[in-house]
Amino acid sequence: MLPQPARAESPERRPEARARPLEPRILVVEDEAPLATMLRYNLEKQGYVVEEAADGEEALLKITEFEPDLVLLDWMLPSLSGLEVCRQVRRNPATQDLPIVMVTARAEDQDSIRALNLGADDYVTKPFSVEALLARIRAILRRRGRLPAAERGRRQFQDIVLDLMTRRVQRGGRTIHLGPTEFRLLDFFMQHPHRVFSREELLDAVWGADIHVEPRTVDVHIRRLRRALNLPGEADVIRTVRSAGYALDVEES
Ligand code: CA
Repeated sequence: MLPQPARAESPERRPEARARPLEPRILVVEDEAPLATMLRYNLEKQGYVVEEAADGEEALLKITEFEPDLVLLDWMLPSLSGLEVCRQVRRNPATQDLPIVMVTARAEDQDSIRALNLGADDYVTKPFSVEALLARIRAILRRRGRLPAAERGRRQFQDIVLDLMTRRVQRGGRTIHLGPTEFRLLDFFMQHPHRVFSREELLDAVWGADIHVEPRTVDVHIRRLRRALNLPGEADVIRTVRSAGYALDVEES
């Protein structure tokens, strides 16, 4: 019979009692070095702290040492596959809730279903757009209250991102130029997506209750906002509800 492990390994004695850095950490598990470098660059730009692992064994080791808030996990890896890493992470009580985004080179539905069944929180298929990947990471970390400071000043609705600090708006990665009223209008809508507001409610919220403006003014600014946001062929994100008002929403087609 094996001797019992020494009690010195009790949880209180482990070095993880040290203060965690404020910014969320992401472990990038990817054996293609150029892709890993590109991911690190983009994640660090968003304010994440990044560590890399180039194979499955190293991934498991770094998960213990680096204690990431999220793992970006390539499926096809040397030594242990991404699926096996995912399985082991889920089996370990210390890491069973660790968010995992799988990166797969295979577009078959079966594979993504397998990844999700094994406990991946989400997946992207190579080649993927960095913007789409960042949006998925953001969505998972927002639910856990672990967004970087730079991201906390952002609002997002579908592919529209509004940055409160720089006062910049982007849709699908392209910059949208808005006048101050359209910016405030969009900011208000993005705080209450899908909700319908009457012209009077919008006047109160965006222009202020004491300012005398015709309700029709709202229509003018909505039209400008729409023109700025939507390119031909893109979904109109502002829904007009007859005799009720407007909502930030996508029309059912
Ligand atoms: Ca790979």
